[in-house]
Amino acid sequence: MTVTSAGHTSSPVLVAQGLDAGYDGVPVVRGLDLVINQGEVVALLGANGAGKTTTLLTIAGLLPPISGRLTVLGEVAHDERGRGRRVRRNSLTRTWRRARRGLSLVPEDRGLFPGLTVNEHLRLSKSKTNTSNTSNDILDLFPALAPLRTRQAGLLSGGEQQMLAIARALATMPKLLMVDEMSLGLAPIIVERLLPLVRSAAAATGAGVLIVEQHVHMALAVSDRAAVMSRGVVTVQGDSRELEARSDILESSYLGEN
Ligand code: ATP
Repeated sequence: MTVTSAGHTSSPVLVAQGLDAGYDGVPVVRGLDLVINQGEVVALLGANGAGKTTTLLTIAGLLPPISGRLTVLGEVAHDERGRGRRVRRNSLTRTWRRARRGLSLVPEDRGLFPGLTVNEHLRLSKSKTNTSNTSNDILDLFPALAPLRTRQAGLLSGGEQQMLAIARALATMPKLLMVDEMSLGLAPIIVERLLPLVRSAAAATGAGVLIVEQHVHMALAVSDRAAVMSRGVVTVQGDSRELEARSDILESSYLGEN
């Protein structure tokens, strides 16, 4: 156990070991080894079709793993390594149970209800265990949303909708937050403003965060560690600062040459 720079006690909220994931028993992600600690931001990078969303869906429990070991929030969700041992129907095998224990996924399409207001989204997501005034606490992190409290989600700009999607996820007080392609459909300048908010949220709440991002340099700037996936395999994984400095490694790993 270590203590992060944000002062949070660091223990893993996610451990994937040799994880194969995919569709109808056909793996599109192979041999994934990934650890995320409390308060840590990890970026999952890679070209289109590399397997990033498949990874997130599998961690969230929306797709069953094919093989390997997956431990989410301290509990083994799947274990099938060689000997065919497999955890079935335990408390984490169902997505809603995983969510209840503290996993939150912001999907690519953001999953908002266009007819509900900002306040309504936050109220609906308020964690039962959180007795504080969640909406106010969360809106402190996203001040641009504060004047829009009574506006319907469908009337927000793309960037405001993304902020709401993340704010809603944070209102559940997640211990593991996963954000898929936050930048989809957004201008780079908006992404540049949004990504640091995810960093602040991790620091403020102690949640471990996994972001999938196409804007490689922006993702490296806000993350502690990064993994680059190419054709279903993580080709390079390491400290974000070091990867940022080694564009040659990044480029070749994107091409699957590492
Ligand atoms: P992008 O950045 O374009 O979203 P990605 O890295 O998130 O890509 P995935 O969406 O995980 O990639 O897709 C990985 C592979 O799995 C791709 O080859 C894709 O065609 C395939 N795939 C995705 N969804 C399904 C599905 N429902 N059934 C079968 N194959 C799928």
